[in-house]
Amino acid sequence: MKYKDTVEKSAEFLRLAITHMARQKAGHHPMSFSVWYEYVSGGNRQLSAELDELQQKGVLLTDEMTEALYNKYVADCGAGATQHVHEELDKILKNIAVSAREAGEKSSRFDHSLEQYSVRLEERHELESLQDVIQALLVETRSMRSSLSDLEQELSDKTREMDGLKEQLRQVREETISDALTGLVNRKVFLERFNQARQITDACGSLCLLLVDIDHFKDVNDNYGHLLGDKVIRQVAQTLNVSVKGGDTAARYGGEEFAILLPNTTLENARNLAEQIRLKVERIRVRRADNGSTLGVVTISVGVACYRQGDDDSSMIHRADMALYAAKHGGRNRVMIESE
Ligand code: GH3
Ligand code: MG
Ligand code: MG
Repeated sequence: MKYKDTVEKSAEFLRLAITHMARQKAGHHPMSFSVWYEYVSGGNRQLSAELDELQQKGVLLTDEMTEALYNKYVADCGAGATQHVHEELDKILKNIAVSAREAGEKSSRFDHSLEQYSVRLEERHELESLQDVIQALLVETRSMRSSLSDLEQELSDKTREMDGLKEQLRQVREETISDALTGLVNRKVFLERFNQARQITDACGSLCLLLVDIDHFKDVNDNYGHLLGDKVIRQVAQTLNVSVKGGDTAARYGGEEFAILLPNTTLENARNLAEQIRLKVERIRVRRADNGSTLGVVTISVGVACYRQGDDDSSMIHRADMALYAAKHGGRNRVMIESE
């Protein structure tokens, strides 16, 4: 979840965002709302800076300008958080540099003092002055030790802060690449992996694609509500995820549609895997939280396509989609292979 504001805070942001939206030329659509929500909640500094500049010039946002700002600053939901981590890391590094420099200056002063004491020791041999030298040396050494331990403490605090940032980055990365409902990778990541796999496949091996769509899913939503619909999507996603191995990718392609990428897999093996997944999904039993009863059988239709020389991503997806369409027309709950 990208927004973690409290209810009270988000209600206030909502009111402010709407006030800003109402002043623009652009329509009151979700894109425009997202832009102004980001602005008033202050989490997206670059967007805020650009909007501030436009407002100072008296510019009123049109639909096109709003869309451009949305695509630039909001669509990539990790950008704001990544920027934050970057800025924090920059601060930490600067702090460490200052502390290290101070410790370095102190240690070179210490070095200088030691030299002076050593000269004094050579010049004077009487007990009194030896005692003086020892006392002064003790004072200097304690002070040096305390500044080194300050540096050590500071370094250990900064290490903790950096661990925190590392965790924040990990979360941002997870939110950016994975679909929030199912935890599968999202369509964007799927397409990236698909394109990478296609390039390797140009050289050798085969690459197959499964497009999976839940049958009559609208009925689930209509009969049991969207929350239970979400539960069905999650359970199907989990079934797909446990059915693929290391180099394969199971992704949420859209609403109740999934895509599975199978590098180094023949069409025949891809068909077998699709058939196994279809049977596993048939065995899913989704329980209603309110009365514990189970829903009817959930089924999927699957279209399978295999890489052909010269394919781009859209031609291969199109063939898998045609096969999926044929599976639906053939009566659903079945696997169809692309036509020759
Ligand atoms: P078909 O067998 O032809 O695929 O029929 P269908 O009812 O599944 O048809 P269609 O693909 O047109 O409908 C998909 C529905 O899925 C429409 C949409 O409201 C719903 N949907 C899309 N995303 C989600 C989601 O995240 N949660 C829920 N609960 N429903 C969703
Ligand atoms: Mg669909
Ligand atoms: Mg469907």
